[in-house]
Amino acid sequence: MAENTATQQFEYKAEMQQLLHLIVNSLYTNQEIFLRELISNASDALNKARFQQLTDHSGEGYQDLKITITLDPDARTLSIEDSGIGMTRDDLISRLGTIASSGTLAFIEEQKASGKPVDADMIGQFGVGFYSAFMVADEIVLETLHAGEDANPLIWKSDGTGTYAISDGTRNERGTRITLHLKEEAKEFAEETRIRSIIRKYSNFVDFPIHLGSDQVNTLKALWKKRKDEITEEERNEFYKFITGDYTDPFGHLHLQIEGVLCFEALLFVPAQAPVNLFREERRSDLHLYCSGVFVRDDAEELLPEYLSFVRGVVDTDDLPLNVSREVTQKSPVAQRIRSTLTGKLLGLLEEWATEDAERFEKFFHNFGAVLKTGLWSDFSKRDELLKLMRYPSTHSENLTSLQDYVNRMTGGQETIYYLLADSLESARKSPHLEGFVRKGIEVLLLPDPIDALTLPNVQKFEEKTFTSVTGADLDLGDDQDSESLPGDDQDSLLSLFRIQLGDRIQDVTVSRRLVDSAATLVAPKDGVDPQLERMMKSMNPDYEGMKKVLEVNVDHPLMKNILALKSSDENQDTLIEEAIEQVYEGALLLDGNLTEPSAFVARMIRILVDATRTPQ
Ligand code: ADP
Repeated sequence: MAENTATQQFEYKAEMQQLLHLIVNSLYTNQEIFLRELISNASDALNKARFQQLTDHSGEGYQDLKITITLDPDARTLSIEDSGIGMTRDDLISRLGTIASSGTLAFIEEQKASGKPVDADMIGQFGVGFYSAFMVADEIVLETLHAGEDANPLIWKSDGTGTYAISDGTRNERGTRITLHLKEEAKEFAEETRIRSIIRKYSNFVDFPIHLGSDQVNTLKALWKKRKDEITEEERNEFYKFITGDYTDPFGHLHLQIEGVLCFEALLFVPAQAPVNLFREERRSDLHLYCSGVFVRDDAEELLPEYLSFVRGVVDTDDLPLNVSREVTQKSPVAQRIRSTLTGKLLGLLEEWATEDAERFEKFFHNFGAVLKTGLWSDFSKRDELLKLMRYPSTHSENLTSLQDYVNRMTGGQETIYYLLADSLESARKSPHLEGFVRKGIEVLLLPDPIDALTLPNVQKFEEKTFTSVTGADLDLGDDQDSESLPGDDQDSLLSLFRIQLGDRIQDVTVSRRLVDSAATLVAPKDGVDPQLERMMKSMNPDYEGMKKVLEVNVDHPLMKNILALKSSDENQDTLIEEAIEQVYEGALLLDGNLTEPSAFVARMIRILVDATRTPQ
């Protein structure tokens, strides 16, 4: 037969080349995981073939579903063969030749730049598992035949540098065989004892027989079907890494074996770290759905509410038919019951973590709290349970605080839970809105997370306590009238000076009961929208016109007394008074991040400074 009648050369995309370079030149620890990645790919391909055999009655002949590993220490080769779905020419080019996750390269380079070790173990997370084989091989030959009726056998070849080649092949059975030509320093991977122990370590739970020499190396029993006390923690953790590609042990797990009207098993995990792409669309979904032990899909996110979407694992049920589409599963009462059971059990587990070890729970919350918070608006039925799990920064605590702890610390006649929405924790801690609360020792929750602005104001009550924003207008912290306060008449004339000067730029001017050191602050009108929320709305829609604010003036501030004194003095100082009022108003805007024309503010400030620094004649 003529050799390579139609060999086509392809160049890797630039990013792929860089990535390959990194894989080959910087990953020296844990190289053995390449085998886990290849077995995992083979197992995926077998799952697809089995699914097809069971659902599609095209009459395709039954074939053993298995993985076979062959070693040749003399030739220094390792080959791994599966009777799975195989690959088309298009698969070879578009699936094998490109990086699934665009953040991969950036992430690895960031790790390296910050001096953190880059471990081969990380590779699986990024959808480039196949290429990890280039850590140990200087040439890879892949022969494949796709399951489709008119598919042609193909050969893919690469040395992992700049290019790969695709040519016609001779394989006559469905599936894929990958042969690694091992580097001299990686010859250990052609030894049977070494390979056997790697398979035992990483791939014991693969659902298909793995043959090595004349033996089957793995035991075939789905881990989630085993009794809980039959599973070691190590096994469970390896299983987690196998299905997620994560390289660290999970934070915790939940193993359910539910029997009754509804039957299903679930082995679920909470990762120890938020994935790099937690909020990105391309996020790889890792909730695997099995029906009667047969793998169906790895993205069964309809079985969990969005706010628990960080949970990974496996759900296996006899009560769903194999060949149903996602749309049908979504609506099926079985799926909905599974979803509600999983939600209840997971929230219960989180609650348990929260009560058992607050510090540990804070770590969890740091990673996934923002996702969990979205449940406050999406799932009304679980609101009370979710509120118990919330943790917020506060004026009274270095660590995050729970609402229950806040309520326990409430004293005297405090009726409501106070909160401040802000851009950042630093700006929250410095906010003038806090002054009165600090003076009176009243605790305020500080909420810099944008999701808080969208959730907490809509929560009515926790433990019978309402929530109140400290930026609301009608806030009265109780009277402790200062003896130095301006007399009532003076207050009135001061307020009207402000009202006249600021006109319809504001809704009103009032006397503040919350300010201590600051001269003035802007607050939302009664029943108005929180200023922080308005800022967010504005950033989403530049045309959004916020509501007019109320300017609260600190009548105990020396500036106010000076303004009044100037007004009643003989000298004509109206301009200075007007400028002072403008400055107070714009200063308040500035602190809220709402001053749109800083140049006028600065020019005025300079004029005032010129006056103030003039040497007396
Ligand atoms: P990932 O497995 O994370 O998607 P890989 O780089 O390991 O990333 O593989 C890329 C793709 O190549 C897979 O998604 C799959 O479509 C295809 N592939 C790899 N190995 C096989 C195989 N043995 N049989 C069929 N397809 C495979």
